[in-house]
Amino acid sequence: MKTASAMDGLDLCARLDELAKLSCQSDGLTRMVMTKEHRRANDLVANWMREAGMSVREDAIGNIIGRYEGSTPGAPALMVGSHLDSVRNAGRYDGPLGVIAAIASVAGLHAAGERLAHALEVIGFCDEEGTRFGATMLGSRAVAGSFDEAALALRDDEGISLAEAMTRFGLDPARLGGAKRQKGELLGYLELHIEQGPVLEALGLPVAAVTAINGATRLAVTITGMAGHAGTVPMAGRRDALAAAAECVLAVEAAARQAGLVATVGRLDVKDAAINVIAGHVQFTIDLRAPRDDLRLALLADIEARMRGLCAARDVGITITRLHELAATPCAPQLIGSIDAACAKLGLEAHHLASGAGHDGMAMAKLCPIGMIFLRCKGGISHHPDESITPEDTALGARLLLEVMRKPGL
Ligand SMILES: [Zn+2]
Repeated sequence: MKTASAMDGLDLCARLDELAKLSCQSDGLTRMVMTKEHRRANDLVANWMREAGMSVREDAIGNIIGRYEGSTPGAPALMVGSHLDSVRNAGRYDGPLGVIAAIASVAGLHAAGERLAHALEVIGFCDEEGTRFGATMLGSRAVAGSFDEAALALRDDEGISLAEAMTRFGLDPARLGGAKRQKGELLGYLELHIEQGPVLEALGLPVAAVTAINGATRLAVTITGMAGHAGTVPMAGRRDALAAAAECVLAVEAAARQAGLVATVGRLDVKDAAINVIAGHVQFTIDLRAPRDDLRLALLADIEARMRGLCAARDVGITITRLHELAATPCAPQLIGSIDAACAKLGLEAHHLASGAGHDGMAMAKLCPIGMIFLRCKGGISHHPDESITPEDTALGARLLLEVMRKPGL
């Protein structure tokens, strides 16, 4: 058997395949927090961490953590990892890739007897997706100290509360605070993750430095016109709420394209809809996202102005309600610079991308600087069994991660 330090992309993928067998369902991959599959995944990962020269512990929320001391024992650590839970019927790379690659990188240092000025901690977060209890990033929130204890009362589909599940897993909910890390213990948090989008594949590039995790605004829009008989009301006199909504949907699309951002109308409901009735009342949602809050707020203002103008011209009423507002999480410039430098060293183009999806880094940013590397994935597919990466890209991602771990610039 090869030592971990000699692992190539095929070996890394074999480990990812091994982890993917730990599923709550027989015909696909679903791994949820505080289950026996979570226990087995933590045990398997802990063994790989020990093989790579790390001391291993499980923290108070069930994150698995391996520590590789620096040249001075007890030095602050760069934390590197990702999550070990999955969505239902998941792919095998979203999450585990970042953990397996980080372990392989530490194994390389260990095999060479190399110690860095800082310590390294590899973490497998217990729950990022929120599949079992609905609340996301339980593991990273506990580490960052932003865990909302109300989440302990959340129940899964079988009525088991998170607190009960923790107890069955061998953890004590009353000691949850023990998972929290102090500022100064960690230099930063670094994560390798599949892109979950099609951009790198289209550009023919294997990796990118993430600039920020997008912030988001969600709106509910109600348009009120006048319902009427489809046969008797002339076109000229109509106040058709659905026709106005259709113009608004296209305005949302046009504004987002113009701003180079993303905005989506994902739901539209016509009240009392009938084939022979002019719609009097329509509701729809808007989800818009941006890597910078000023860009998001500018797009929001543009969309609102366009929709109000369209509705005024049609003499229909419009109300816009904000349902959800989440600030963008910028990645630390030092880590972006360090990823760029590592790309240059490996002869790779240093491409930059914003993350459209949420990640543990959002929680970790409350505690320390964060950085992320995206790895190309086939067709941009994620949260699906068809999720796919190549062994070559996987090895490259792990090599890049190691370079940044050596010189994080923090
Ligand atoms: Zn993920």
